[in-house]
Amino acid sequence: MNTHATISMTIVIAGGGFAGTTLARALEGRLPAGWQVVLLSEESYTTFNPMLAEVVGAAVFPEHVIAPIREMVPATRFIMGRLQQVDSARRILVCSTLAGPLEFTFDHLVLAFGQRANLKLIPGAAEHALPLKLVGDAMHIRNRLLQRLAHIELISDDQQRRSLGHFVVIGGGFSGVEVAGAVADFIRSAHRCYRRVNADELRVSLLHDSDRLLPELPARLGDVAARSLRRRGVDVRLGTRAMRIDAHGVDLVDGTRLAADTVVCTIGASSNPLVEHLAVPTLRGRIVTEPDGQIAGRPGLWALGDCAATVNAADGQTSPPTAQFAVAQAELLARNLVEHIEGRATRAFKYRSKGMMATTGHQKAVALVFGLPLTGLPAWLVWRAHYLMRMPTLGRKVRIWVEWTWGLFFPVDITHLRFTRTADVDASSAP
Ligand SMILES: Cc1cc2nc3c(=O)[nH]c(=O)nc-3n(C[C@H](O)[C@H](O)[C@H](O)COP(=O)(O)OP(=O)(O)OC[C@H]3O[C@@H](n4cnc5c(N)ncnc54)[C@H](O)[C@@H]3O)c2cc1C
Repeated sequence: MNTHATISMTIVIAGGGFAGTTLARALEGRLPAGWQVVLLSEESYTTFNPMLAEVVGAAVFPEHVIAPIREMVPATRFIMGRLQQVDSARRILVCSTLAGPLEFTFDHLVLAFGQRANLKLIPGAAEHALPLKLVGDAMHIRNRLLQRLAHIELISDDQQRRSLGHFVVIGGGFSGVEVAGAVADFIRSAHRCYRRVNADELRVSLLHDSDRLLPELPARLGDVAARSLRRRGVDVRLGTRAMRIDAHGVDLVDGTRLAADTVVCTIGASSNPLVEHLAVPTLRGRIVTEPDGQIAGRPGLWALGDCAATVNAADGQTSPPTAQFAVAQAELLARNLVEHIEGRATRAFKYRSKGMMATTGHQKAVALVFGLPLTGLPAWLVWRAHYLMRMPTLGRKVRIWVEWTWGLFFPVDITHLRFTRTADVDASSAP
């Protein structure tokens, strides 16, 4: 094992998502002399998850919803690796890297490794449903849609064609609503190139177990979202719970069966396997922290973002697992770390949400911004402006803006990009 003995005082941040990168950026230039920050993450980029549905719908290229961590935090030491073990008593951690296991010491360790998709909530989901959590998931779903269209063209059995052309999305929260809208737009636009597929053979269903979509938003906005999706042809089924998923459909609790070869599951999150190993107190799989982000009884250990259960002093509730809260916690934690190091009192996390937004496809969205409800095109423009502003670097902002503008005038890109290499082709054509 490579051992990396740190000379300066070190803060290690494990996880380069919204929380980890915001924290590292906020600490740059703010720490007392002699301190360094190491950001450790298993990918070299941060994924802008709220834009993953745009990748599914081919509104942006996958590369444009990710941002290189090294570019985001130029003054921080970045290590691409996966945190594997923590000895909090000796303040040593082990991570796996390209060069093998690396062990190094820390003074403070901030856990910001997010959560994982949970496909265990519905029997059959792990084998047959597609999650949407990573940029690879979004590319996979998009390819799967194109594969289905290509498959329909080649067969004549009506029942099989209908099952291949039926796309079911489970979950009427933000991701489910956005994906259903994006899939509906995508297949409608892509359909023009699949002349042997009839428009009425393609369907999108959105299943949601409560009586309105987007429960985090006021009821009126949930209703607007449902109406907007229905106008786009999405079969929005409220009060509908999936009981089992198999390769060719979904069985509902009420006994109905939906024949569908493609199911996207956007519900549920599970804790990172590391949480169990760390033996820290948890609440529904999230690490319980003190109001200032420290983990009680584990000096030097802090947590934030999706992996942490931190009470918001503004309402006494556990912070929701959203990017907005991850960023707000990171900004406070940067300040708290400095206060702690310099021997001053830390502050409790207190934050009022600025709003929430969800796109429903075809230049429509619903939003609650500073308490003001917005719907339709204005909400959609606010959504796009917000995420454009959040993108790091001017170059990236311009690329996305050009791509979005291009998408207003031209049909979607129906390239089915496969990562076939010469060795695969040679192997498959061997006699
Ligand atoms: C499809 C989708 C849509 C969403 N839409 C919205 C939205 O509209 N608005 C909103 O506010 N929120 C939205 N969210 C939620 C938002 O993305 C999360 O709340 C946010 O990403 C949490 O940030 P985080 O840094 O805590 O975790 P993450 O962003 O998940 O980052 C965790 C990081 O840790 C890394 N990591 C994991 N394990 C290890 C390890 N062992 N060692 C090193 N690194 C590790 C991961 O690679 C990742 O980079 C959405 C989420 C999804 C999936």
